[in-house]
Amino acid sequence: MLKIENVTKYYGNFLAVDDLTFEVKPGEIFGLLGVNGAGKTTTFRMINGLLDKTKGSITLDGKPIDYTVTDQIGFLTEERSLLTKLTVKEQVIYYGILKGMDEKTILERLDYWLERFHVLEYKERKIKELSKGNQQKVQFITAIINEPKLLILDEPFSGLDPINVQMFMDVIRDLKAKGTSIIFSSHRMEHVEMFCEKLVVLVHGKSVLSGELKQIKKEYRKKNIHVIAEDVDVEALKKVEGVLDVTVNETEMIVKIKSDENASDVFNFIKKCKEVSKFVVEDATLNEIFLEKVGVTYEN
Ligand code: ATP
Repeated sequence: MLKIENVTKYYGNFLAVDDLTFEVKPGEIFGLLGVNGAGKTTTFRMINGLLDKTKGSITLDGKPIDYTVTDQIGFLTEERSLLTKLTVKEQVIYYGILKGMDEKTILERLDYWLERFHVLEYKERKIKELSKGNQQKVQFITAIINEPKLLILDEPFSGLDPINVQMFMDVIRDLKAKGTSIIFSSHRMEHVEMFCEKLVVLVHGKSVLSGELKQIKKEYRKKNIHVIAEDVDVEALKKVEGVLDVTVNETEMIVKIKSDENASDVFNFIKKCKEVSKFVVEDATLNEIFLEKVGVTYEN
C-alpha cells in the first residue's frame, strides 16, 4: 500500500504541495486531479524518489521509497521520454533491464502487450517512425513491463483519441483486478469519474476535495433530473418544492433538485406534460460538486 502522510514541498519559498495525505491500497485506482500547476507532477516525483520532499512521509508497504523499492514501481511520465532512435523492442528491453528483469521474460511480456495494444507490427520499427498515440502505447508498456506493485500514470490519456482512451482504461482496469495500486493524474474530471473510486482534487498544492467518489457524491445530496417533454411550463416547474434551477438546452431540460426526496414532486409535475420521453435522476457531476466547494469552476 502507498501511504502519503502530511507531505509538503517548497521550491525555494514557493509552496507547491501543501500538507497532502492519502493512501492507495492494492487493487485501487486513485485519481489525482488538478488544473495546470496544481502540484500533480511534483507529487509523483516525490513518490518516485526523484524529488526530495520538504516535510512528511511517503512509504510503499511500510518502507520509505528508495532504489531498493523502485523496481516495484512503474511510472508513465507526463513528458514523453522515449529514446526515439531505438526500435520498440530495444526500448522496452532497455527499460526492463533497468528494472532488474531478464531479457527472456521481457520479450515474452512484450509480445503480449504489443498484441493487446494492436501494435505488434511495430516491434522492430524505430520509435520516431511511430504516431504519437502509438509512442504513448510503447511508453505505457515500458511502465508496466515489470508488473509493478505501484503504477503511477501522469496524464495517461492526454493526446489519445477516444478509442485509445478506452483501450488504456481497459488495461488499467485489468491491472487493478490483478492487485496493482494505481495512481493517475488528470485535469479532466470525466476521466476520473469514469473509473476511479478514490480521489484528491488539488488547488495550488492543497487538497480541496478528497475521499471515495461514491461517498462524495452521496454526501452531496443535490441531483439532476434529465427530462424530455413537450409544453413544460418552466416558470411553474421552478416553483415546485425542492427545485433549485431549471436549464433548457437543445435536446433536454435539466432540473436541479435539493435531494432525491424531491424527485417525486417533479415527476408528478412532468407527468402532466405532453410527450414525456425521458425522466432520469442522476448524481451531480464532480465538476458541480467542485464548483460549490471551491467557488470557481474547475474547467476554467
Ligand atoms: P501540469 O498539469 O501543468 O503538469 P502539475 O499539477 O503537474 O501541472 P507541477 O508541475 O507539480 O504541477 O507544478 C506545481 C507548481 O510548482 C507550479 O506552480 C510550478 O510552476 C512549480 N514548479 C514545478 N517545478 C518547479 C521547480 N523545479 N522550481 C520551481 N517551481 C516549480
